[in-house]
Amino acid sequence: MQRRMGHSRVRSWVGGLALWMGVVALSGAAAATPRIERVSFTARADGRGYVIRFHTNEQVAAYSDPVRVSDRVIEITLFHMDLAPSFVKDAPEGPVERYTLTPEDGRIVARFFLRRTVSVNAYRDRETTDLLVSLTYEAGAAQKTVEPTEDARERWRLDTVVIDAGHGGKDAGATGVGGLREKDVVLAVALKLGQYLEDLLGVKVVYTRRSDRFIPLKERGRLANEAGGKLFISIHANASPSRGAKGTETYFLGMHKTAAASQVMERENSVIRFETDQEHYKNFDEADLIRMQLAQSAFMRQSEQLAGLVEAQFAERVGRRSRGVKQAGFYVLWSASMPALLVELGFLSNPREAAFLRSKSGQAYMASAIFRAVKAFKNDYEKGLHLVSAK
Ligand SMILES: [Zn+2]
Repeated sequence: MQRRMGHSRVRSWVGGLALWMGVVALSGAAAATPRIERVSFTARADGRGYVIRFHTNEQVAAYSDPVRVSDRVIEITLFHMDLAPSFVKDAPEGPVERYTLTPEDGRIVARFFLRRTVSVNAYRDRETTDLLVSLTYEAGAAQKTVEPTEDARERWRLDTVVIDAGHGGKDAGATGVGGLREKDVVLAVALKLGQYLEDLLGVKVVYTRRSDRFIPLKERGRLANEAGGKLFISIHANASPSRGAKGTETYFLGMHKTAAASQVMERENSVIRFETDQEHYKNFDEADLIRMQLAQSAFMRQSEQLAGLVEAQFAERVGRRSRGVKQAGFYVLWSASMPALLVELGFLSNPREAAFLRSKSGQAYMASAIFRAVKAFKNDYEKGLHLVSAK
């Protein structure tokens, strides 16, 4: 966590997001949530693919770019959308073997499981309110065997975890009881976690920092992406003016944030003030930020799942008070193109939590809890991929 600052830029995107959400919320208040009434499939006239049509009673306010979850699975999220009670689910056709539509927090996540690889493109229909997803057979792929290559499977193995110890160098983060510094606590836990992951799970660990040095936020995401990370875990500790405040929180990127989450978010994003090339951040306009968030939305469910596992471990295995899984717009999570979490280990301003987090055993307990969560997540993740690739 962090002290307050001149966060005009953070404000501007919070404002943008709030404005955007406000528009969505307003249209929600004025009328019922738009609904999907039917999903249908049509062979394209040129014979080179299929079109999936989401029949909606109102135009979708926002949708994600279709994301290739694996070679044979694509996912698209329709925001501020519901399923009509009379929803008609047509039988899949063409390259689509089966599909699912999952309502989630006011959005619909559609997943299409394919028989063959296609390129995907989503666009709004000009004549109706419908959303169309065009699937184009890839050139030369028509006769290709449907068995995934070992290569493809390798790519989706959870083999590299990026651990990001928050703050560092001139940025100490929060300061707690007895001068305990966030940057030191989180580095100790990060290194311990990395050691567990390497030794007990055999995954490659990449650290954004292994010592007390300053790293700009955007650099952290870049490091993660370049390392081919499959998971990004940013570790932080909290502080509050109230010494009684206590407990752990795990965040994933999202827009359903509470006022309390916004405060933590502003503090964690505020590190930008330490950075010399602030221009970089100013260049993002609101549209960019919304686009970035939509890009991360492909990983949102996975991030949320892992966040739940982490908080459960903190509570059940370490006896921490869990303040729960939360969503907020942390800059550092945006820049990583993979499931990404930000963990707040506890409050350094709370004497008992400070003593626990200062101790070697407390740090080891926290690292081990995160390790167990990652281990369980990795199991699920690879099992899912295996099922998908075995189709
Ligand atoms: Zn922090």
